[in-house]
Amino acid sequence: MIRLVYVSAATVPFTDATLAQLLLISRENNTRAGITGMLLYRDGDFLQVLEGEEHAVRETFRRIARDSRHARTLVLDDSAISEREFSDWSMGFRRVSREEMPQGFVDFFDRRFDPETVAQRGGEAITFLRSFRAIA
Ligand code: FAD
Repeated sequence: MIRLVYVSAATVPFTDATLAQLLLISRENNTRAGITGMLLYRDGDFLQVLEGEEHAVRETFRRIARDSRHARTLVLDDSAISEREFSDWSMGFRRVSREEMPQGFVDFFDRRFDPETVAQRGGEAITFLRSFRAIA
């Protein structure tokens, strides 16, 4: 299995209704493909983790990356895993605000970190996503 974590920026406004529609399709597809994960959305930016069999995750991510509703996709983590961390969700979701960002993390949504240190950010991104797992 693999885990893929990325950030991206919305190119269109996402309302509660359009996010719900996106989640409906994503959850149907992910259930069929055996993919689990979580999607966070903050002020027009996404952070998503996908986990599952390699071919399923890569095929799903290829489709996601082609989606014109977001751009500036940046992969933070692409690694082999032996266990799922988000096994309860075909796609957990949280809309988060700046106020509820956990302390002590680089702001993944703002991409303020140096792109050359992206490779080191994968583990941090997962810890960050984990902190939302309990409350999603
Ligand atoms: P498509 O022909 O691409 O689209 C099917 C339906 O999706 C359309 O009928 C429409 O309702 C909607 N849609 C697609 N593109 C647009 C658009 N540009 N504007 C408005 N509506 C549109 N898919 C997953 O399967 N799993 C995921 O975890 C997942 N996560 C996503 C995360 C983000 C941040 C975004 C932006 C998209 C995500 N998607 C995910 C959606 C994915 O990009 C595809 O749209 C979806 O998988 C359907 O792909 P498709 O080729 O089968 O159908």
